[in-house]
Amino acid sequence: MVSSTLPAERCRSCGAEREAAALDAQGWCGDCRAVVVRRATWVARAAGLAAALLVATLVAVLVAPTRFLIFWLALIVGSYVFVVKLVRRMAFEVIHARGLGRRRRG
Ligand SMILES: [Zn+2]
Repeated sequence: MVSSTLPAERCRSCGAEREAAALDAQGWCGDCRAVVVRRATWVARAAGLAAALLVATLVAVLVAPTRFLIFWLALIVGSYVFVVKLVRRMAFEVIHARGLGRRRRG
């Protein structure tokens, strides 16, 4: 007989048995969280890129940055970083809340 002092619980997303301590507040295991983080990161990068392009276009059209080029570049990079951080957080919550859907590969 295999006896464990650690309480085992099932992940609410994939159903894998894990130590209760390894599950997060919503009862998800590390593997499922990693998938959510990866997806959220891709969504955030796409949004960040779109934001950076938008800012770059606005700067090019409205400002014609012949001076202070480093400032405008910093602004563009800054908007990318800001949007990525913001969207990553929001996308994580949304994807986490919706669940990973059909992800049973066996
Ligand atoms: Zn899981």
